[in-house]
Amino acid sequence: MHRGLIVQKFGGSSVANVERIQEVARRVVDYRRRGYDLVVVVSALGDTTDELVELANKINLHPSEREMDMLLSTGEQISVALLAMAVHKLGVEAISFTGAQGGIITDTSHTRARIIKINADKIKEELKKNRVVIVAGFQGVTLTQDITTLGRGGSDLTAVALAKELAARECEIYTDVDGIYTTDPRVEPHAKMIKEITYDEMLEMASLGAQVMQARSIEVAKKFDVPIHVRSSFSKNAGTLIIKEVKRMEDVVVTSVTINKKAAKITICSLPDRPGVAAKIFKKLSLEGVNVDMIVQNVSHTRQTDISFTVSKSALQKAMKVTRKAAANINAGQIIADEDIARISIVGVGMKSHPGVAATMFGVLAKKKVNIEMISTSDISISCIIKKRFAERAVRALHKEFGLGK
Ligand code: ASP
Ligand code: MG
Repeated sequence: MHRGLIVQKFGGSSVANVERIQEVARRVVDYRRRGYDLVVVVSALGDTTDELVELANKINLHPSEREMDMLLSTGEQISVALLAMAVHKLGVEAISFTGAQGGIITDTSHTRARIIKINADKIKEELKKNRVVIVAGFQGVTLTQDITTLGRGGSDLTAVALAKELAARECEIYTDVDGIYTTDPRVEPHAKMIKEITYDEMLEMASLGAQVMQARSIEVAKKFDVPIHVRSSFSKNAGTLIIKEVKRMEDVVVTSVTINKKAAKITICSLPDRPGVAAKIFKKLSLEGVNVDMIVQNVSHTRQTDISFTVSKSALQKAMKVTRKAAANINAGQIIADEDIARISIVGVGMKSHPGVAATMFGVLAKKKVNIEMISTSDISISCIIKKRFAERAVRALHKEFGLGK
């Protein structure tokens, strides 16, 4: 029976050791025997990529990006070869490819390359021979034969792009969680797995810190309408479908509550309230490569104003240094860093058509006596910065208020 093509991607934790590779091979063979054609994308074993980065830094703290790609791409090359051998052992034909052999052509921006096209002829030929094709994730090649990588977590992108190019019926992303949850189950044991979620909601969650999938890969899936199926490689559970539109029986306003403790807040006090001040500061930050997230400026009643913004904790030292320098030139007051914060967000496409969602969220926080330090909103999300110690409590209360629990 011919059931069509599926692209399956297995992340690092799913191929962390010999047993797990064998487990993946069994799943692949099971699908094959049920009549599916398969292209399988794999990440590097376990934490291999992190280890390779560390190794490089022992040799050179500022390695050339080209050589970095040369190094990191070896991780995935190990995985594809081992998985092919494991599949062979179970009596099924399979062949492994590097990104280059799989025809993943990218631009020349090493360590964060973009796919420009896929020449899938070689993959199609092997599929015709009834082989499982196993492709190294996260890597590609430039038109001039240099190896590139697609940014951390890039195997997701390889899988989605191949699913689009080969018109696969589905792209399965296997990971170490059962799927996408209404909130972090470690924070709220009543968190529920979400059966279906839209690309937009998933993108929003990814940008708010959910680490299930690489954000770029979801963007590509959305653009080309590739259905994604997030599942656990440790169970047979159904997982979460990420699709364009979800037909929900009931009116669901909020689909998830997210929590992110990786941000820090910087406040510049008593800035002169005149044109060009914000531009100056944020231009400096961007020139130095500091990624700024939320920004809040107060209305000024004096001729001075405060600006607060958040950056990732890992960028705080650098951000403070740049901010101090920028602020000194414009006669600003004190600059305060605060690491004791968390960002709590609610996400849901239903917000677009339901008034009062923000009021409900603020009401829940008020009832818990949690002070809101910053607020930001998008079309389909509302975020509040609060003190870190209130984060879990706030998440549980919001989860309950919006009816997400079991
Ligand atoms: N191995 C690469 C990384 O750790 C790519 C991936 O896992 O998707 O970033
Ligand atoms: Mg990885």
